[in-house]
Amino acid sequence: MSAAVSALEQLPAPVPDGSPTGVWSTTVRRVPGDLEVGGCSVSGLTAQFGTPLYILDEVDARARAAAWVSAMREAFAELAGADVYYACKAFASVGVARWMLEEGLHLDTCSEGELRIALAAGARGHQLGLHGNNKSAAEIELALEHEVAHLVVDSLAEVELVAEAAARRGRVAAVVVRITSGIHAGGHDFIATAHEDQKFGLSLTSGAAWEAIRRISANPWLRLVGLHSHIGSQIVATDAFVAAARAILDLRARVARELGSVIPEIDLGGGYGVRYTGADPIPPSPRDFATVLATEVARHSAQSGIPAPRISVEPGRSIIAPAGMTLYTVGTIKDVHVDTTRTRTYVSVDGGMSDNIRPALYGADYTAALVDRVQAEDADSSRVCRVVGKHCESGDIVVRAVALPEDIHAGDLLVTPGTGAYGRVMASHYNMLPSPGVIAVRDGRARWLIRGETVADLFALDADYPAADSPATTAEN
Ligand SMILES: *Cc1c(COP(=O)(O)O)cnc(C)c1O
Repeated sequence: MSAAVSALEQLPAPVPDGSPTGVWSTTVRRVPGDLEVGGCSVSGLTAQFGTPLYILDEVDARARAAAWVSAMREAFAELAGADVYYACKAFASVGVARWMLEEGLHLDTCSEGELRIALAAGARGHQLGLHGNNKSAAEIELALEHEVAHLVVDSLAEVELVAEAAARRGRVAAVVVRITSGIHAGGHDFIATAHEDQKFGLSLTSGAAWEAIRRISANPWLRLVGLHSHIGSQIVATDAFVAAARAILDLRARVARELGSVIPEIDLGGGYGVRYTGADPIPPSPRDFATVLATEVARHSAQSGIPAPRISVEPGRSIIAPAGMTLYTVGTIKDVHVDTTRTRTYVSVDGGMSDNIRPALYGADYTAALVDRVQAEDADSSRVCRVVGKHCESGDIVVRAVALPEDIHAGDLLVTPGTGAYGRVMASHYNMLPSPGVIAVRDGRARWLIRGETVADLFALDADYPAADSPATTAEN
């Protein structure tokens, strides 16, 4: 075979090992000639549901959700307790929202659609949060109607909007203020004095946060129940969360000193990292995060003399990304000359950037494997492949580089692990591709969570598309 593009790109396909820190969901098993997930044969799922298809491992998702709840409850048992809000934006369906409620989580939403999914799953107001830097009047009304626990105020203008809506209803609204603390993290690093040139929250350093707190405290229609901080995503170390917690605890102490009120709660947001490929570092576990946060909260409260707050976190990706995978069918395969000595094999699949925008949007890395066989150990029987989609964009990449069996061919089934978060929820209809459906697998059974779209679904809202029985469809036949 031709020389590989770069030795550094020779990432082997991942081997399922059942560990929560692996890149596969924990029930994935390699069996002769197949993969299994949730006790289901992946080839069998293809026959039943087709490709492309998102698969969610229910046991894995529930276990990760439960791990957050038990870690937070135990770490904060001696303090003022803790709540875990699942960030619905990572993946939202009524079925998954139900799993989260059953595992003892609350639900964090940021639009009417997410709020309605949470309500349809049976969430009560005290189990709900509503975020958003530009909430509509209808979203604020819906949140107040259901008396959500966390209506997270994101601007000074919104302080007034919520107060007016509360006054109209004649009921005091509980609000949380989103603070930008100057701490940003993501990937492998954090910075403690980040610029705050972004759209979210109220800045600590500019005084906007203090002004919001002052106005809320002075408004008879508002009750300040918490301070919120969200510092980034895909964070793989605990230090940034500790720094953010300290900044918010300091602010809370200042409120107690200067305004005489003890804010009951602090919400430290989401952003806990996962492993997408074997090259990613192993992130801290929920227990690791909970333990360091509890230590900081206890230390701060002992030092300031102010009782510890209740703590919330809002994990999304860390619960649902590893539980998911995307199943594709391989189509066209091309060997492309990169230069005179090197070739790259482009493996096209039947989806792409419309079902996983993250590689195009953030340069995100994923990995892949064939369903029915692994590449042999010796390098000569595998080749470094770039998995690409079927869209009209050269940036339509699914996996930048992965070693796949040398004999890979059209019709092979290929899976990319780690796609449970920010895949289906960011799906587009680019090139008029229907969005793949999502199935849940568990104990050998599979069922739709979200049905797959058909091409006909795409036309349903096109006002000029001829209806099936209209004369326009028959005129040309
Ligand atoms: C995106 C987001 C989350 C969830 O982030 P993950 O990286 O999925 O954990 C939680 N809270 C807020 C406010 C967010 O914007």
